[in-house]
Amino acid sequence: MTIIHQPATLLDFIYKQKAQGLSVGFIPTMGALHEGHIELVKTASANCDVTVCSIFVNPTQFNDQADFRKYPNRLENDIRMLAGSGTDVLFLPPVEAMYPEGLDGLEKYDLGYLETILEGKYRPGHFQGVSQVMARLLKAAEPDKLFMGQKDYQQCMVVKKLISILGMGIEFITCPTVRETDGLAMSSRNLRLDAAERERAPGIYKTLQFINDNISPGNIESLKKEAFAQLEQMGFRVDYVEIADAGTLEPISNWNGQQKLAALIAAFNGEVRLIDNLLIAP
Ligand code: AMP
Repeated sequence: MTIIHQPATLLDFIYKQKAQGLSVGFIPTMGALHEGHIELVKTASANCDVTVCSIFVNPTQFNDQADFRKYPNRLENDIRMLAGSGTDVLFLPPVEAMYPEGLDGLEKYDLGYLETILEGKYRPGHFQGVSQVMARLLKAAEPDKLFMGQKDYQQCMVVKKLISILGMGIEFITCPTVRETDGLAMSSRNLRLDAAERERAPGIYKTLQFINDNISPGNIESLKKEAFAQLEQMGFRVDYVEIADAGTLEPISNWNGQQKLAALIAAFNGEVRLIDNLLIAP
């Protein structure tokens, strides 16, 4: 595995691969890697000739500076995991290489409705930050295929929109959420949970399953309230429980029983904010 630090060096490497007719798969991450990330790498390796993974904790996407400061850093372990998983290149840029112009007055993207709901509403500026870093990463890696996790459902939609804004012909591949055996969605933030919080944490997935098992046309609003109350009872501080159209993320209150839906939850477990979602089959 080659480690590259500068965007221009990465792009040069990518052009050389493409000149040989090789396809490039890209997996952006913020490190503190777990099996969820490694599944993305494996899917990319199986689908592309060259697999590029990035680790970059992007300062512009943290609306909460404490969350940024406390973001886990396990670089040595990450490098070991990537080297054993089929990654050809690890892109590990310093902040100055990604934002040579500094962090103030950065460009803004018109993300429309997506930016005003759910994560967009509770984390103002978050998706602008995601777009700013993804634009830079995609321009440095020029991948044929981009692999991201369903765990961050709204982020997938934002990045798809960004790709069309940038006019880049990149195929977007959404990979299923990898879970612990008790259902907890794997997340780098899980490392910050203490023993009691870790025990509580699968309650989010259990509540998503409760929604999936009990949903019917006509009970959406009451089901959301019930799910919210369940989470509070377990000790979570809930930002939202939403049931939305799986294609647009528009919240729905009347379901025809046919429309594909996604149930989405964001809740604080102690100081750690966790998100998860589940697609509901019609
Ligand atoms: P992060 O390092 O949290 O920014 O995540 C990097 C990529 O890994 C994103 O595309 C995430 O959606 C994806 N990811 C994070 N957790 C999981 C998981 N449990 N299963 C599948 N993909 C995940």
